[in-house]
Amino acid sequence: MENQNKPEKIFESIYVHIPFCEIKCPYCDFNAYSDVDYLTENLINSIEKEIVYWGTLFENQKIKSIFFGGGTPSWIESKYIQNIIKIIKENFNLKKDIEITLESNPMDLTETKIDDYQHSGINRFSVGIQSLNDKTLKFIGRNHNRKGALNALKNLNDKKAKNFSVDIMFGIPYQTVAEIKETVETLIKFNPTHFSSYSFTIEPNTPFHKFVKEKKIKELDEDTYIEIFNTIYSTLKNNNYTNYEISNWSLEGYESIHNSNYWDNKNFLGVGPGAHSYLNEIRFSNIKSPKKYIQHISKIQNNYNSQINNFNEFIKTINFVYDHEIITKDIKQKEYIIFALRKNTGLSKSKFNNEFNENIEKFLPENLNNFIDYNLIKTDDNIIKLTDKGKLLSNELFREILYPSGK
Ligand code: SF4
Repeated sequence: MENQNKPEKIFESIYVHIPFCEIKCPYCDFNAYSDVDYLTENLINSIEKEIVYWGTLFENQKIKSIFFGGGTPSWIESKYIQNIIKIIKENFNLKKDIEITLESNPMDLTETKIDDYQHSGINRFSVGIQSLNDKTLKFIGRNHNRKGALNALKNLNDKKAKNFSVDIMFGIPYQTVAEIKETVETLIKFNPTHFSSYSFTIEPNTPFHKFVKEKKIKELDEDTYIEIFNTIYSTLKNNNYTNYEISNWSLEGYESIHNSNYWDNKNFLGVGPGAHSYLNEIRFSNIKSPKKYIQHISKIQNNYNSQINNFNEFIKTINFVYDHEIITKDIKQKEYIIFALRKNTGLSKSKFNNEFNENIEKFLPENLNNFIDYNLIKTDDNIIKLTDKGKLLSNELFREILYPSGK
């Protein structure tokens, strides 16, 4: 193939979507399935084919991070993860200090599997603990309990897995402040380098959505929600974790390289059913259904040729891509602002003006001063940052940036 006609844009991060889960949690709206394990072999073959496809197009890309997400990548046999890493290695240049993360369910993190993962190059685990309270875990339909979660963390410690993150969820109906405090404090004892703390949300088209509508469950009251949020903040802060992004905390030097790539608005390639990519100012996603994805990949062709010099046109010719969106300058600028505000470094007006050669003021809400008066943001001549209170109410501010009411 002619090299000069290939897209030149560089990406340094690869996301691999493994859509299998042991059970489908009733609150989850991810592209994840609990009843298609029989497709595993075929699906992994297809993902490998997709990797080769992109590798042929984008030769010699230097990759700094790989992230296995899902679904539950740890649910499938470890040999599959090993094979995918091998194929990525054969098709791209992996940087020496590459970060390779595996999202894992506590019940899968046996000593044997951790060994396998470490041998295949996984050097970061992201463990879906969510809570250490058995009642809460049962309520949200997880397939692990406190004992299983603690055992997984012990295994990571025993296997000297130095870099691992734990996911916790707050704002779950019936959750208490004491419970979240105990969960966070116990987790800290296992020395995770990183915490992700996500607000529990009721997503449309999930069983939980139906339960709320039928008044079978009640959402957590606002006061308890705020107190739980503040408890997580103070506990992590007091234990040397930095809240470097609204939902993410790390010890110094252990910020997620892969996720920082998203928040820095950089390109990335996503492979697997439903995976999203952002390349050459185009955001696109693959067919979601594992079965259809496999069917389409089986007919894959290396169709990049000299006739197509427009990446937007090219994307339309890829049979396993489901949809795509051109990221206009306006969208890019607004996303830049929101991503910057989500980070603890804040939004630098001068950096924005340099990056886009345009004055940032017209993108900021006219009622910005109200946000300052309510102590939601703080600002000096150049940097705008969310306060801790602002982080709690950040969605209001972001909505005002995206859909300004006064303009
Ligand atoms: S394990 Fe994660 S991805 Fe799978 S169903 Fe539960 S929440 Fe969704």
